[in-house]
Amino acid sequence: MAVFFMAKKTKKSALQEIQGVSQDNRLNAKLVKNISLKKSQAKADSYVRKILEGNTVALSQAITLIESDHSERFALGQEIVRQCLPKAAQSIRIGITGVPGVGKSTFIEALGILYTQKKHKVAVLAVDPSSSLSKGSILGDKTRMEALSRDNRAYIRPSPTGNHLGGVARKTRESILLCEAAGFDVIIIETVGVGQSETIAHSMVDFFLLLKLAGAGDELQGIKRGIIEMADAIVINKAEADNLQPAKLAQKAFQNALHFYPAKESGWTPKVLLASALQQQGIDAVANEIDAFFNLTKASGYFEKHRMQQHSYWLKETIQQQLEEQFYQQAEIVKNLPLVVKKIEQKKLTAFEAAEILFTIYQESHES
Ligand code: GDP
Repeated sequence: MAVFFMAKKTKKSALQEIQGVSQDNRLNAKLVKNISLKKSQAKADSYVRKILEGNTVALSQAITLIESDHSERFALGQEIVRQCLPKAAQSIRIGITGVPGVGKSTFIEALGILYTQKKHKVAVLAVDPSSSLSKGSILGDKTRMEALSRDNRAYIRPSPTGNHLGGVARKTRESILLCEAAGFDVIIIETVGVGQSETIAHSMVDFFLLLKLAGAGDELQGIKRGIIEMADAIVINKAEADNLQPAKLAQKAFQNALHFYPAKESGWTPKVLLASALQQQGIDAVANEIDAFFNLTKASGYFEKHRMQQHSYWLKETIQQQLEEQFYQQAEIVKNLPLVVKKIEQKKLTAFEAAEILFTIYQESHES
């Protein structure tokens, strides 16, 4: 008994010694962690300082960090965003959508140059769902907007890539903040009308513009109702030469259609305008319309209210997205999901019952 006790005691004291040593190691680990934290803090500070000076090289590098999947680089990017957040300049955020070929980049270039001539600083970002499906992208072609990309008051960034649109959206939102911190006061978000990308772009801008082409009197066919509802302006592009008459007809058709939509919470009445982005005609009128929108909504308080609504929308979206990811990644769900799908196929379970079963499994394995 005594021997056992002694042995136990010795073992205990040995353990304590080992604990002592490992505590030292832990201290070292803590020290190392602190040093690396300080280092990354210093790195973040340096990025932030340069971004606030309007350094676009640092801005691009920081955006690459927030787009990174690498955990340390991602963390550094997040720290930069956090520090830039209170320093972001007052900006206007404009969303521009339309099918490929409608003239988005030509139009953005014309509008962007008009703003830079008025001494604004313009950043063009993109939300492109195609870049999340493949590594190529419809909008990301660097040869686009050549004149604007040479303008030193402008900054153009292609769409981030990502496995899902939610990720692309987060990166774009954070890029907006960084651009604003770098002094860009006009932010243009370009998107192509595929899937949810328009809704996502709409949820991060103040003013949403739909670019259209005149058709053969069938303008309203095939157009998603939601898009017209979202639009603060519709611009019929390529309204020149032989295309001018059809463009005027399209203008009437859209203007009539707009009457059937409920009044906007902003108090703004959307108009349908004509433009030729290629010939730089009608762009002034669009810019005036945008000005009028911001004058109205800033005076009424809607501008601020809407941005707050967008913050809470993004908070909820992010939580939903993270919960969903967590759910589908959980080992028990990975194991059981195909089994319940099979049961649904065999008509042994309804989708609702299956969901309830999976949810119970998730909760139980989460608690254990
Ligand atoms: P995106 O795919 O929507 O970005 O469209 P682009 O800006 O790349 O334009 C597609 C094609 O339409 C290009 O060949 C442009 O030169 C042309 N384009 C753009 N705007 C106009 C316009 O106002 N008039 C005419 N005639 N062509 C235009």
